[in-house]
Amino acid sequence: EEYLDTDFIGRNIYYFNSINSTNRKAKEIAFGEKEGTVLVAEQQEEGKGRLGRHWISPKGKGIWMSIILKPKVDPMKVAKITLLGAAAVYKALSNMNIKSQIKWPNDVLIDGKKICGILTEMSAELNMINYVIMGIGINVNLDESDIPEELKDKATSIKIIEDKEIDRKELFTNILNEFEKIYKDFIDRDSISEAIDICKANSALIGKDIRIIRGDEVRVGKALDINEEGHLVVEFDGGIVENIYSGEISIRGL
Ligand code: ADP
Repeated sequence: EEYLDTDFIGRNIYYFNSINSTNRKAKEIAFGEKEGTVLVAEQQEEGKGRLGRHWISPKGKGIWMSIILKPKVDPMKVAKITLLGAAAVYKALSNMNIKSQIKWPNDVLIDGKKICGILTEMSAELNMINYVIMGIGINVNLDESDIPEELKDKATSIKIIEDKEIDRKELFTNILNEFEKIYKDFIDRDSISEAIDICKANSALIGKDIRIIRGDEVRVGKALDINEEGHLVVEFDGGIVENIYSGEISIRGL
């Protein structure tokens, strides 16, 4: 069993049987809510990935959640929060003896297939953050029949891999506990080094040839590292090395 061991993350939780999307609802209520408020739903009717893509969220089978954050940091630093979330999910799974890999910047994989996606959205004015919404979707107990044919080569669930039902509440609590520790390092000490170490040591990309897709532009390179800023370091043709910001890009294997 696992108990919530946090000061503020998940101390206020809204639970929904069904909702359009936890991120959307979180954006509606964020102004009036305390930092660390969590929304979690059994089902999302219109779950969202990045760039408005659909995120399948079948009833009772996953963890479909959003965390409302109000970090007093430069809005430029918000992209880092996605990595903090990925590191927390990795650690929570690891606590339950489930080994995963982090696919920079926003996915967690098992056996090379996506079991978790993170969608971080921000509202800011000038140099002030109003709020950040970190949405985390985890395919916990989805069966093969829950995964559409066209996603079968890139998505799976923990249950499918482990061949047993996983305790969603235990995983949920673990994620909140691990996230608070990592997030406190970020806001109190301006340190993301532990999360970066986790993302590097368990990276699905480092050492691999990848395609970086930004709109219509596709570039091929080799992922070398994740730097201390949380950027992906990529070597392109001719030995040119560049730091890639997460932004609106997608990364695929070759
Ligand atoms: P990517 O990281 O691949 O660029 P996103 O983070 O935007 O993609 O996530 C949306 C995409 O993930 C969808 O277009 C679909 O291919 C895939 N997808 C949708 N629902 C799920 C799910 N529950 N689990 C894994 N992958 C999913």
